[in-house]
Amino acid sequence: MGLTPMMQQYLEIKDKYKDCILFFRLGDFYEMFFEDAEIASRELEIALTGRDCGLEKRAPMCGVPFHSADTYIARLIEKGYKVAICEQLEDPKFAKGIVKRDITRIITPGTIIDSNMLDEKVNNFIASVYFNIDKVAISIADVSTGDFYVTSFIEENNKLMNELSKFKPSEMLIIKNSFTERFETLVLNIKSRFNLLINYVEDKSSESLSNKDYSHLNEYEKVSAVNLLKYLNETQKSSLDHISSITRYKTEDFMLIDSFTRRNLELTETMRSRSKKGTLIDVLDKTQTAMGGRLIRKWIEEPLLIKDEIEKRLEAVEELIDNIYISSDLREFLRGIYDIERIMGKISCETANARDLISLKQSIRFLPDIRAAISNCKSILLSEIYRDFDELGDIFQLIDESIDENPPITIKEGGIIKTGFNQEIDKLRDAMTNGKNWIAELEQKERDLTGIKSLKIGYNKVFGYYLEVTKSNLSSIPQDRYIRKQTLANAERFITPELKEMEEIVSGAESKVVDLEYDIFVHIRNKIYGEVSRIKKVAHYLAIIDSLLSFAKVSFENNYTKPKITDDGVIEIKEGRHPVVEKMISGVFVPNDTMLDNKEDMVIIITGPNMAGKSTYLRQVALITLMAQIGCFVPAASAKISIVDRIFTRIGASDDLSLGQSTFMVEMSEVSNILNNATKNSLLILDEVGRGTSTFDGLSIAWAVIEFISQRIGAKTLFATHYHELTELEGKIDGVKNYCISVKEHGEDIIFLRKIIRGGADQSYGIQVAKLAGLPSEVIDKAKEILEKLEESDISKKLKTKTKPAVVKEAAATLSNEINLFNYKENELIEEIKSIDVLNITPIEAINKLYSLVNKAKGLR
Ligand code: ADP
Ligand code: MG
Repeated sequence: MGLTPMMQQYLEIKDKYKDCILFFRLGDFYEMFFEDAEIASRELEIALTGRDCGLEKRAPMCGVPFHSADTYIARLIEKGYKVAICEQLEDPKFAKGIVKRDITRIITPGTIIDSNMLDEKVNNFIASVYFNIDKVAISIADVSTGDFYVTSFIEENNKLMNELSKFKPSEMLIIKNSFTERFETLVLNIKSRFNLLINYVEDKSSESLSNKDYSHLNEYEKVSAVNLLKYLNETQKSSLDHISSITRYKTEDFMLIDSFTRRNLELTETMRSRSKKGTLIDVLDKTQTAMGGRLIRKWIEEPLLIKDEIEKRLEAVEELIDNIYISSDLREFLRGIYDIERIMGKISCETANARDLISLKQSIRFLPDIRAAISNCKSILLSEIYRDFDELGDIFQLIDESIDENPPITIKEGGIIKTGFNQEIDKLRDAMTNGKNWIAELEQKERDLTGIKSLKIGYNKVFGYYLEVTKSNLSSIPQDRYIRKQTLANAERFITPELKEMEEIVSGAESKVVDLEYDIFVHIRNKIYGEVSRIKKVAHYLAIIDSLLSFAKVSFENNYTKPKITDDGVIEIKEGRHPVVEKMISGVFVPNDTMLDNKEDMVIIITGPNMAGKSTYLRQVALITLMAQIGCFVPAASAKISIVDRIFTRIGASDDLSLGQSTFMVEMSEVSNILNNATKNSLLILDEVGRGTSTFDGLSIAWAVIEFISQRIGAKTLFATHYHELTELEGKIDGVKNYCISVKEHGEDIIFLRKIIRGGADQSYGIQVAKLAGLPSEVIDKAKEILEKLEESDISKKLKTKTKPAVVKEAAATLSNEINLFNYKENELIEEIKSIDVLNITPIEAINKLYSLVNKAKGLR
């Protein structure tokens, strides 16, 4: 084969990274070839060219300048590609033969560490999944921060999907084995739900990876963890010491919230647009730091189940609300804190520059103040943090002594190390400045010697230092000493042996300083890296303080109250509000009470017209309960919350048509999931369940579901429905109580009072709601007429007692006899009369018009 040596090298490397777009460093560019070039030129909209590769046909090629590569890489990653960076490993100037090259880093959607490509308040997770018969082990990591979690469970009822929806990973590894195939549909569902990059990888867990402790994991968990670490190690080409601990958890350690409920309660993204605006986190997150932002998100995704833990947070929040000076100080200090976790991530992956160290130092500067601010705190959480809080004074001092306050972005051009830190650097820098001064003095000396006043010394990259003399002065130069180097339009440039000698000293010192500065910088960076676990611990404390402060601020500003946490099965809320809706509506939010237990007040059936506020009320109860269990105050006058092990919500099919999930089948399979998994301690939110099918089916199913919940599960349930027939269940089934959302009739209209009261709604006010919605008055009037006739007839009585399709048919038949169809023609006639322009009509036109109108009127029945 006639391939050029460089192309051979390219293909050898590419062969090992087939699934990546290879960025091949050639001088100042990263070039892509063959298929990669075609993909990249299309995706990045850059020109596709070609390059001789030794074969007959030129190799397709495209490239990007190395200094702006980051934005191109980011765009490819966003589109779901992986990018492998291939660097020159030696200086081409000194290379014998072809320059050595190899992959230095692989960037994939789940392994980004560049903060410009990441949302600072959101973790970027990568997951690895290992299937074994019906067991699943998952590991979840964020390389940018060093977080690493592992768990395992039996895969049933969408458990994997539910667990992943907590983390929303951007990439997933599936460790291939004989059971993988069985879960293919599940994997496809996951892919479409999270739109993530999936890699199937061979199991490499037998080649153990040292430096990590796996002793607390079971064998499946270990497989998933080791493979994930291997993958991270291969992509980052670093030892990943900032992943200092592998946190194992059990899914039952936190409130179980399935992926549907998460979306439905709009905890971190809205149902429709998946945006943050209009979600619970949008209301609760007032954190100052990126670390706090990520932690508060985790708290919201993982409500607690243990009373003590919940109370610890609540108590700390209360203390911060009560001590306004402490919290305003803390808030002020936290504002100056950079993303320490991600800086440590960069340090660990050896991509941190001197500016990152300065950011770290500036953050550490506030640590003593923060510690002092919480020194008098009494709450367990804050006083524990105080006692264990490391001010990192030694690290501050190290950076402060060594790193310049305003270092450049690159670490290979010097200007990083402070004067006084290293004698050798100082000496070399002296030599440089002396040399430069000497050169400056030389200019004056030569002017004096030659008498040429305009003589000057300049510098360029090609010739180094030179003396420049204008053409008119050329006769005055000393021919023996001046050596001509370059001719310009009206000047000549010269060098002298003396000048070159000094230049060598200067530039020699310069390159020595640059090298030495780099070495010292890397040494300091490594030293800080050695303290990674200390630094990460403080970072975590800062995140906790920040999140607690955010709860305190939001609770204070929105008039929330501290919930009383119990385990007696009772949820009792006085004047509860919906934390998000109350912020979004223009008018006043009407507060409502709630009483739920496992006995008399177990299943609450809520009726009321459309738009009355049923769905809002249901979600409000779920959100208040969840907020209490994450340790935040709640929007209510008072609240007693008995800890809930899981929250389930199911919304009647036609409510979420936009998500393409409107099939009745989906609705029913989720109801079955609820009925199979809910416990006595669960909270069930059922909104218009049964609406996805015909009235009679739906009604019967709703009826049976309520009966099952009350008699078999005993879970606290809120059931909103437009079937007011269901109000019949109170008194028939234990624990069922009717409530409705009141409306007031005002003449012919209705006013929504939004107040929930005891009793069932006796009518649905559909016509009034339709009127509010702006249906033409003609239609409204007609509907009223039909309704009146219906209510007068004995059909309505039949409908109330027995609901059979035959009755409806009978009703329709009777109605069509009793009620006229719309007389559209009559209206047309009236419109025609109205349209006559009486002032501008001639007598003859008038008589013709009248004649035609009379005829038309005669034609009507
Ligand atoms: P339903 O489910 O009964 O059709 P929703 O819960 O969707 O009604 O509520 C309709 C609208 O009424 C909401 O979008 C909100 O703007 C308003 N609303 C609901 N509850 C309240 C309340 N308690 N106070 C004020 N406005 C409310
Ligand atoms: Mg509703």
